[in-house]
Amino acid sequence: MWEEYRTLGVSEAVYERGEAVLKTLAGPFRRIDEVAEHNQLKVLNAMIRNGVAEYHMHGSTGYGHDDQGRDTLERVYADVFHTEDALVRPQITCGTHALYLAMAANLKAGDELLSPVGAPYDTLEEVIGIRPSVGSLAENGITYRQVDLLPGDRFDWDGIRAAVGEKTKLATIQRSRGYSARKTFSPAEIGELIRFLKELKPDLTVMVDNCYGEFTDLKEPSDCGADMVVGSLIKNPGGGLAPSGGYIAGRKDLIERCAKRLTAPGLGKDMGASLGVNPSFYQGFFLAPTVVAGAKKSAVFAAALYESLGFKVSPGPQEPRYDIIQAIDLLSPERLAAFCAGIQGAAPVDSFVRPEASDMDGYADKVIMAAGTFVQGSSIELSADGPLREPYRVFFQGGLSWFHGKAGILLSLQKLVDAGLAL
Ligand SMILES: *Cc1c(COP(=O)(O)O)cnc(C)c1O
Repeated sequence: MWEEYRTLGVSEAVYERGEAVLKTLAGPFRRIDEVAEHNQLKVLNAMIRNGVAEYHMHGSTGYGHDDQGRDTLERVYADVFHTEDALVRPQITCGTHALYLAMAANLKAGDELLSPVGAPYDTLEEVIGIRPSVGSLAENGITYRQVDLLPGDRFDWDGIRAAVGEKTKLATIQRSRGYSARKTFSPAEIGELIRFLKELKPDLTVMVDNCYGEFTDLKEPSDCGADMVVGSLIKNPGGGLAPSGGYIAGRKDLIERCAKRLTAPGLGKDMGASLGVNPSFYQGFFLAPTVVAGAKKSAVFAAALYESLGFKVSPGPQEPRYDIIQAIDLLSPERLAAFCAGIQGAAPVDSFVRPEASDMDGYADKVIMAAGTFVQGSSIELSADGPLREPYRVFFQGGLSWFHGKAGILLSLQKLVDAGLAL
């Protein structure tokens, strides 16, 4: 086995270190497989129940009227997320777009948006208008209020109670940690927060940013009271095959507004050609539970390997996981660069590229990224990102297969070792 790793550039010492660490991971790997098996059956049953057929794989052009493949896929998503309806479209360009769409479609001038879980994902700062931006919700008369988490990532119940008022219309809850230091919330924890919010204000709409969270648990936030769950198809639910797109699953009236916002008032869900994406959307969704399991195993392995070397990792290898993100505090820009060079060097595409820090649309700090992916920017594929700020924390995610994830992580460590920065 080591021969193949040696060809990749991994030394025997690094390989053996990985094998030793793997022996401690039987428990977490078994739990990951159990979740994957459950979710595989959930998706399979939804496809059978909704009569997915060969002709659904054909796409539409032009207006996209009567695209039964598109419409059936949206029923499959709604079935899996246990929601009334869903919008799953290649015209939704990314996760940020899907989140913007869900909020902009369901908020009017004078309404207030509430984040009860602290600052949202970096790219949403401009969507909301926390950082001034053309076309932001703020520019359209929608105010924003945020209640920060208490130490230990606890919900600030008193602060939330005080923040919910007459104008509060929609609450946005981010499930995954994103690029922040906080923990990822489980669907059960999110459910507890939603119950509290709905007791304060029964007609409050609750949206969950589900990016990176899909299929990591037996339940989704929509099983725990969320009115809408929102995510990107070049993350978990696209299974690595979707070439673009986003989804919103939720209550019918909310989804209708999203569809009319995506197209135009008077149009809506009937419009929007699927072009050629139906097969990859279906097949990617079908594979997603297994792909997510591989990504989770890779994350657990990275956590265990780097923890064994004395680095602070989050979550720990034995902790439960509600997204696919692994954070490792590398404590220097050199280590961050070496780590990313290893992930890039083990990529099936663009392995020869050397990642460099640069400015990114929507992000305040410079970011270094490693992504040698089949789909540009796909982070269900093996990838690593780190903003250039203390503590030089790398966020590692993805891996279309566990074995690719393992190879990438071993090569990342090799790059640190080669530069004299670890072992
Ligand atoms: C990735 C992500 C987004 C934004 O998605 P893009 O597809 O990059 O626009 C939003 N929220 C969270 C938690 C994410 O992980």
